[in-house]
Amino acid sequence: MRALTVEPKQQGSATVEEVPEPPAEDGPVLVETLAVGVCGTDLEILSGQYGWAPPGRDRLVLGHESIGRVQEAPAGSGLAEGDLVVGIVRRPDPVPCPNCAVGEWDFCRNGKYTERGIKEHDGYCSERYRITPEYAVKVDPSLGSLGVLLEPTSVVAKAWEQAERIGGRARFEPKVAVVTGAGPIGLLAALLGVQRGLEVHVFDQVTSGPKPELVAALGAHYHTGPIEEAVKEPDVVVECTGVGSLVFDAMEHLGPGGVVVLTGVSSGGRSIDVDAGLLNRAMVLENEAVVGSVNANRRHYEQAAEALAKADRSWLEGLVSRRVPLEDWQAALERQPDDVKVVIEVAK
Ligand code: BGC
Repeated sequence: MRALTVEPKQQGSATVEEVPEPPAEDGPVLVETLAVGVCGTDLEILSGQYGWAPPGRDRLVLGHESIGRVQEAPAGSGLAEGDLVVGIVRRPDPVPCPNCAVGEWDFCRNGKYTERGIKEHDGYCSERYRITPEYAVKVDPSLGSLGVLLEPTSVVAKAWEQAERIGGRARFEPKVAVVTGAGPIGLLAALLGVQRGLEVHVFDQVTSGPKPELVAALGAHYHTGPIEEAVKEPDVVVECTGVGSLVFDAMEHLGPGGVVVLTGVSSGGRSIDVDAGLLNRAMVLENEAVVGSVNANRRHYEQAAEALAKADRSWLEGLVSRRVPLEDWQAALERQPDDVKVVIEVAK
C-alpha cells in the first residue's frame, strides 16, 4: 500500500512509497484511510526538528489527524464495517506511569508514551491502518471527511477541560474568553467557547483571508490589535500561537481567578523583557493560573466528537482550505497565505 513516510530528524526526507500492509499487532480493526490533516507538528517533523521512527527502523509513516472507514472489525468491538472513525494519537507508556495506567496518557509522567505519526509508532497517512477498538473513536456519519477535524478538536476539548477544572477550584462562572491565534486550533477553541455560551474574542495578525469571517460567523469577535485595547479581564485565555510575547500579554491581562491555557509550542531562542515581579504580584493577588496542555485522552475525543456533531457543517467546511490528493503531497505541505487546514486525501 502507499504511505507518506519520513526519516525523522532528516529535513527533506519525506516521500510517498510502497510499504507493507499494516501489522496485525496494531489491532484487529482494519481501517481504510480517507484523509489526513496537516498541522504544525507535521511541518516540524518534515523540517527535521521533531519526530522519532519506530524502534529498529529509519522511517516513520506520517499523519496523526485522520478520518477513515472501518473495513473489518471483530464482533462485539462496538465498531462495524462502514463506520467512520478517527484514530487516537497517543498510546500509554509500557511501565505504565500512574496516569497511563488509568487511560490518562495525555498526562504521561515518564515520557515513554508513543504517538502515531509522531513518536515511535507509524501514523495514519497510509492507505490502510490497523488499530485496537479502544483507540478508534466513531464520528457522526453526517460529518463525512470533516471528521478529520476531530483530533485537533480533541486537543482544544482538553484545553477547555483544564480551564474548567482549574477554574472550578472556586466558584467559576466564566463569561469572557480570549483566544490568541486564529489557526485551526484557535478557531476550534473559539467554537468550543461559543458552544459554552461565552463571549469569545479571537486575536490574530491577519486582516484579510478567511479567518476574520470564520470568527464572525461563529458570533465571536475578531481583533488584530493588543488584547488590552479590546477586552478587559477575560476569565479564560486559550493561547494557541506559542509566541512568547502573547503568552505574557495573556497573563498580564487575565481577570481575577482566571485561567490561561497554553497550547502553542514555541521554538525557543527568542528573549523578551518581562517584569517578573509585577507578574508574580498580579498572579498571587488575583489567584490566577497558567497551565500547559498537550494531547488528549479518549474522553476528550468523545467531547470533541459531540462538539463537531453540533457544529455548523458549512463553518467546519470553511476551515478546510485545500484538499490535496496523496500523490501531490508536496503541495499539501507548502503553506499558502490563506491556509487554515490543509488535508491530504488518501483514498481515491
Ligand atoms: C498533536 C498531539 C501531540 C503533540 C506532541 C500535536 O500536534 O496533536 O496529539 O501530543 O503534537 O507530539
